[in-house]
Amino acid sequence: MKCSYCDAEINPNIDSYFTCLDNFIQTKYFDTEEENVFCSQECFCNYVQLEEIDSEGEEG
Ligand SMILES: [Zn+2]
Repeated sequence: MKCSYCDAEINPNIDSYFTCLDNFIQTKYFDTEEENVFCSQECFCNYVQLEEIDSEGEEG
């Protein structure tokens, strides 16, 4: 199997991997279970376009 974001090879017998268990995200983003496989949390975040918005802070 492969990471859906970076295409890294993942051997489920050797490597740990990440999969999203949220039903809404599954139906929105993944047609098949094989697509719901990521080598890292970072790859999943990039895949679903999770972005960090910097705090506007108080320094102006
Ligand atoms: Zn990856």
